[in-house]
Amino acid sequence: MIFKATNSRPRPALRRVRTTTALRPLRHRLHPAAVEEIPFRAGDGVRLGLTRIDTGEQDRPAVLLLHGHTASADMFLLPETRNLVDALLDGGYEPWLLDWRGSCRLPYNETGQKYTYDDVALHDIPEAVSHIRARIGDRPLFVVAHCIGSLTLSLSMTAGLVPGLAGVVSQGVFLTPKLAGRTSLRMSLAGELLKSRIDHIPVDFRKVGLWSRYTPLFALASRRASCPDPTCQILHNSAWGTGASLFVHEHLSETTHGRLAELLGPAPLWILPHLRRIELARSVVRWHDTDLRYRTLPPNALDAAARIDTPVLLLSGSENGLWLDSQKLCHQVLARRQPQLDVTYAEIPGYGHLDTFLGRGAALDVFGHILDFLDERR
Ligand SMILES: [Zn+2]
Repeated sequence: MIFKATNSRPRPALRRVRTTTALRPLRHRLHPAAVEEIPFRAGDGVRLGLTRIDTGEQDRPAVLLLHGHTASADMFLLPETRNLVDALLDGGYEPWLLDWRGSCRLPYNETGQKYTYDDVALHDIPEAVSHIRARIGDRPLFVVAHCIGSLTLSLSMTAGLVPGLAGVVSQGVFLTPKLAGRTSLRMSLAGELLKSRIDHIPVDFRKVGLWSRYTPLFALASRRASCPDPTCQILHNSAWGTGASLFVHEHLSETTHGRLAELLGPAPLWILPHLRRIELARSVVRWHDTDLRYRTLPPNALDAAARIDTPVLLLSGSENGLWLDSQKLCHQVLARRQPQLDVTYAEIPGYGHLDTFLGRGAALDVFGHILDFLDERR
């Protein structure tokens, strides 16, 4: 009901949307000469970006970092705190960061051709891995992946598209997605939203203005919110209107809290049917059933889990308000169905979802688990 009211609102002023495919500049405190930006095209021609942190040493194992949907490589480079790239550099690794097509440094969530997670698994991740391999040769390559970056990686891995990784750290969700109940319910309402003129959910109230067709979504997100910031409300209290929670509020520094609209961009609604199908299957399933171009991907990644050929560390905050205990479930299911796989599970007490990377204490509470896993396998 609440969405119907949008029709009677005055027409919003035209939004300024980015149409260029150039990547928005990264925010970091590294020496500019150490940051090598590598534009490249995914397997289907979509323009993406890789970033390599140059340490001047040619023998370091490489670690590819995959952000979550609507986030970007920026989530691993927060200048305001000790971030994962800092920890990897100190640990003797060479970080590589991919901005896949769901990155808010790219325009595709707002404009451009619609995509599904099949495209990310088939085109973005394998192409990025082959670019890195061409540069690093025989050096080991690890992947640390967050949220949808990890979910789509599981599809690439079970399709056999990224064989021979030295190890994978998966945060939040991997092969067995399970969403918070309210999220599941609200996702079924997405169809209603799609019938209206809404095709993505913004996070920056300042950009869309006080009165727009999005006002009801922000109003919904503000209910029972303890923080007055509208962007925080739509992410922390509502996860783009789905009703889930993306982080434990007190884990973010004031600076990170003030940058949320820059760290997380608008969420496209047209991705929700694929997410809904995945959620109902409790497994990562392919969207394209009849299109032969996608036949390399398994119809169901969990059923193809025997193809995983690398150690996997499943990470999750104990208070993950989006994917709940999906990782613990994944560990149990794989232990029973694929006992030959090297899969471990580590739970971070008191942490939610995004704060495992954005949190001011993540270096102390989370990154040690990641570094220990990498160090044992380098
Ligand atoms: Zn807040």
